[in-house]
Amino acid sequence: MSRIIVVTSGKGGVGKTTSSANLGMAIAKLGRKVVLVDADFGLRNLDLLLGLENRIVYTALEVIARECKLDQALVKDKRQPNLSLLAAPQTRNKTVITAAHMKALVEVLSRYFDYVLIDCPAGIESGFQNAIAGAKEAIIVTTPEISAVRDADRVVGLLEANRITDIKLILNRIRPAMVRNNDMMSIEDVLDILSVKLIGAIPDDEQVIVSTNKGEPLVLSDKPSLAGTAYENVARRLEGQEVEFLNLEVPPKGFFAKLTSWITGNS
Ligand code: ADP
Ligand code: MG
Repeated sequence: MSRIIVVTSGKGGVGKTTSSANLGMAIAKLGRKVVLVDADFGLRNLDLLLGLENRIVYTALEVIARECKLDQALVKDKRQPNLSLLAAPQTRNKTVITAAHMKALVEVLSRYFDYVLIDCPAGIESGFQNAIAGAKEAIIVTTPEISAVRDADRVVGLLEANRITDIKLILNRIRPAMVRNNDMMSIEDVLDILSVKLIGAIPDDEQVIVSTNKGEPLVLSDKPSLAGTAYENVARRLEGQEVEFLNLEVPPKGFFAKLTSWITGNS
């Protein structure tokens, strides 16, 4: 049985696309066949985050319009062949695409892939309705900010109204030092408001921005990063593994330098 999961949030800029790219890649690394569907029609950027933008010939729009075959529009990642991308159209009139089109599309995809991950646009209008149309599960991404959490709560209600009740939460861009100083909501604070199960806690990590600019999801990098590891853990939890949550506290700046100089006697 394949899984059709929409990655959504309500609010824009909270990390849906970042989470889709990293999760898709991390699940593919675990040996599952994954297709990432960019449902952010008009503002696509999942292709950029994956570094696949130059390989796109056809998009979901041509597939729906029957102007190309599905496999002509799927871009297979050369670094990780278990991962494919179905890009969003950027130029043409997007209003012609309906929820019924999207539902049919993801259902076809689910015959060929273990996971269909749908990157949802911001907002709760037609783009959102299209993105959730064929989904059986949802991952809500939020940051620990009250406006994002409130939008996430609204989206939980809308998903449930659309009979999507398997909803999990990724809390993104956590800054432990701010949480410690009571300047940011803690994981517990957010979970008190949103009654959904936490599947990932991702730190705010500048490596995310570096990887975005390189078109290489963090989970592909050889350099270990806290955010990359956190995303790999989400993938394993989705696969049903019990994985402890990371301690997001980073040692204070200069800690490693001091430790090295102490070990080498150069202090
Ligand atoms: P959305 O798809 O929800 O609009 P994006 O995934 O495009 O959000 O992310 C918005 C911005 O936030 C991007 O510039 C991205 O690099 C940055 N970002 C996302 N997650 C993190 C993180 N954990 N740490 C640092 N920056 C992040
Ligand atoms: Mg996005």
